[in-house]
Amino acid sequence: MPFSNLIGWTIVFLTHTACPKEIANFIVQRIIDMAKMSRTQKTRLAEPPDVLLDARRQRTCVPVLDFVVGGVEFVTMAGPCAVETESQLMATARHVRRAGARVLRGGAFKPRSSPYAFQGLGLEGLKLLAAARDETGLAVVTEVMSECDVPLVAEYADILQIGSRSMENYTLLEATAQSGKPILLKRGMVATVADLLRSAQVILNNGNPNVILCERGIRTFETAMRNTFDAAGIAFLKQVTHLPVIADPSHAAGRHDLVPALARIGVAAGADGLLVEVHPNPDQAWSDGEQSLDFAEFDAMMTALQPWIELRAMASGEERLEQREFALKRTGDGAI
Ligand code: PEP
Ligand code: MN
Repeated sequence: MPFSNLIGWTIVFLTHTACPKEIANFIVQRIIDMAKMSRTQKTRLAEPPDVLLDARRQRTCVPVLDFVVGGVEFVTMAGPCAVETESQLMATARHVRRAGARVLRGGAFKPRSSPYAFQGLGLEGLKLLAAARDETGLAVVTEVMSECDVPLVAEYADILQIGSRSMENYTLLEATAQSGKPILLKRGMVATVADLLRSAQVILNNGNPNVILCERGIRTFETAMRNTFDAAGIAFLKQVTHLPVIADPSHAAGRHDLVPALARIGVAAGADGLLVEVHPNPDQAWSDGEQSLDFAEFDAMMTALQPWIELRAMASGEERLEQREFALKRTGDGAI
């Protein structure tokens, strides 16, 4: 309704009811103030405040099994694009565990760009993921695509993934948030960082603080890669939000040979972890084989990343110290 109509009807309403004059004047004045606000001011009012970092908020550490995402430890999540067979999943889980991963990834419900592509094993895939967790101790992250599937996926997974194509499905975000499980929220392929933060805010509004943001590449005019990896987006998110941010170099690159470089860039930009596709035999993969690392490539990437991860640990240690000093200054609990 246009504001002029709103003001008119409010005045008619207020003059025909027993509303005290002061209250009536106050309401009318508020509406007039809102009508006078510039478009920028109104947009600012709609910004998502809870996801933003400020002096009162510590960085969020998301607890998963026996570790946290967003703390000093760099967390690698690795595994196949899709759960295909028991042998494929178990071999991958054992391998990535030995190479230092903490989380096993694998889609049981697959969003695909083509309706003819493999759509995932569903419940059978979830059971295989849970069996892999039981054997290896890895936590499980897997995508949930429909709010109807949330209870089922939450029964098997430790982290629920919201895929790029679902980032703005608020009904799904609400249902997923209400499961109480940690959520890996992937950036939509045509979403701005503000859009991503708005979706994170929907999860927080539904009582779930355990959100992990994921940069997975966005669509640009560049076609040499599957997507354009937004490293600046990672650095920016780390500056403006207290939520952990992880990098997905696999979907960003779309090519396995670029994955190690993008992973390094992700760490250097400040990411708290990685989400990487790994397959025992990428040429035979049922989905995303061209961007999946084989075991040897994964090992090489993890080894090459070590110095970068150590630098990151030093930097986050310093940040923690600064935060502690800041907190002490605020509360006056200690001399610095
Ligand atoms: C995936 O992680 O396998 C996936 C489908 O990712 P995205 O939603 O980023 O395309
Ligand atoms: Mn994939």
